[in-house]
Amino acid sequence: MQIAVLALQGAFIEHEQMLAKIGVSSFEIRQRRDIERPFDGLIIPGGESTVQGKLLRELGLFAPLKEKIEAGLPVFGTCAGLLLLAEKIENDTRSHFATMQMTAVRNAYGRQLGSFYTEAEFKGIGIIPMTFIRAPYIAAVSGEAQVLAEAGGHIVAARQKNQLVTAFHPELNEDTSVHQYFAEMVEQSRL
Ligand code: GLN
Repeated sequence: MQIAVLALQGAFIEHEQMLAKIGVSSFEIRQRRDIERPFDGLIIPGGESTVQGKLLRELGLFAPLKEKIEAGLPVFGTCAGLLLLAEKIENDTRSHFATMQMTAVRNAYGRQLGSFYTEAEFKGIGIIPMTFIRAPYIAAVSGEAQVLAEAGGHIVAARQKNQLVTAFHPELNEDTSVHQYFAEMVEQSRL
């Protein structure tokens, strides 16, 4: 199994380290020719969704990656990655890949609560640590998107078939269970 990590901006190294910890090999996508290598899954890291969206388009990565996601490539978006996958962003005129049936809210916790830590139940895993950094939350899911976790009264993780998103950063804690969960999704899609 080979997982590609989008490495244009943001917290991509931490995802690579998590994958290494669970014994999954990965490589970075930085330019168009990187996606010519075969890969079984894609991670879109946290960072700034506007910057990543702009770079994806400028580098000619946007259309081919959107096509792969629509064709069923397993994808895991954290934080800014969640925003890139959301069909609609409530407080932004832009949308990006827009492949996941949900409405997200950017910088949803305001300045005071911009960053915080909590622990909450993740469906199929149990109670896990959750670190939020200027995070979005999911205002609503529709269609085939399913809620996987809620914290503080908001949806913070969801799945739609091969697409997984978390508003928090599982790559910033020791706990590898969400990465394991994604690796299992990738494994299932290869069968
Ligand atoms: N606030 C960022 C955005 O709007 C997301 C923050 C993050 O990824 N940690 O893209």
